[in-house]
Amino acid sequence: MRKLAICLAKGGVGKTTTATNLACGLASHGKKVLLVDCDTQGQAGFFLGIKPKEGLAEVLQKTRTFAEVVCEIRPKLDLLAGGRTLSDATLAIASRTMGIERALSEALRPAEGHYDLVILDMAPGWDLLSVNALIYAREIIAPVELQMAAVESLGQFVERVEDVQAYNPELTIRYVLPTMWDKRSKESQDILERLALVYPEQLCDPIKASVKLFEATGQGQSIFEYAPKSTGAADYAKLIARVLR
Ligand code: ADP
Ligand code: MG
Repeated sequence: MRKLAICLAKGGVGKTTTATNLACGLASHGKKVLLVDCDTQGQAGFFLGIKPKEGLAEVLQKTRTFAEVVCEIRPKLDLLAGGRTLSDATLAIASRTMGIERALSEALRPAEGHYDLVILDMAPGWDLLSVNALIYAREIIAPVELQMAAVESLGQFVERVEDVQAYNPELTIRYVLPTMWDKRSKESQDILERLALVYPEQLCDPIKASVKLFEATGQGQSIFEYAPKSTGAADYAKLIARVLR
């Protein structure tokens, strides 16, 4: 069972868009997928047109079991929802006396062996829940918006991941995914070239800036449902093929 975390400390870089489209795409390729929303904004469900009342927070606090709150949102795709209650759950974890960095791994134990892939959509920032997610995960997909500031935050993120690797040696940044690519922008092009030098093995084909991707999230549909012939669908299909390789 692969465990992928979609993360970068910065917000608005396309993490949730990537998590939801990747999850839907992999599920339609016949993989059994669990999407876990680790963000208090609870956008992963929203982007796929569903707003469950309960989810990860309740499992973390042990007021509900995994089986009670996990919901099938597409064929072969289950969601463990995020949302505001995750901040209380994170506080509750912090007050435990033991294993505060393994609470998420414990909460997700019932998923073990039942899925081909678990995809964690992470919040921006760096808190106890992010650390928990990186203790659980094995692979990271880091979406980077093609602006200089984003490249700098990728550098800082890499250092933080190195701190976690002392506790989870299997964790690797497997994919660096440029997002919101504008072919006409010289800055975007320069950044792509720099990323290719620093992360030659991790760098994926970029996801272009696309109104259709923006619209799809607002409509509660994956890009494959909303606009299967769009460039956004083609770009995410490439990422899915790479993850499946
Ligand atoms: P994050 O989870 O990193 O905060 P989101 O995935 O929520 O980022 O994306 C932020 C906003 O940008 C959303 O409204 C989304 O629809 C939009 N968006 C994401 N990727 C693209 C893209 N490639 N082109 C255009 N808009 C995008
Ligand atoms: Mg998000």
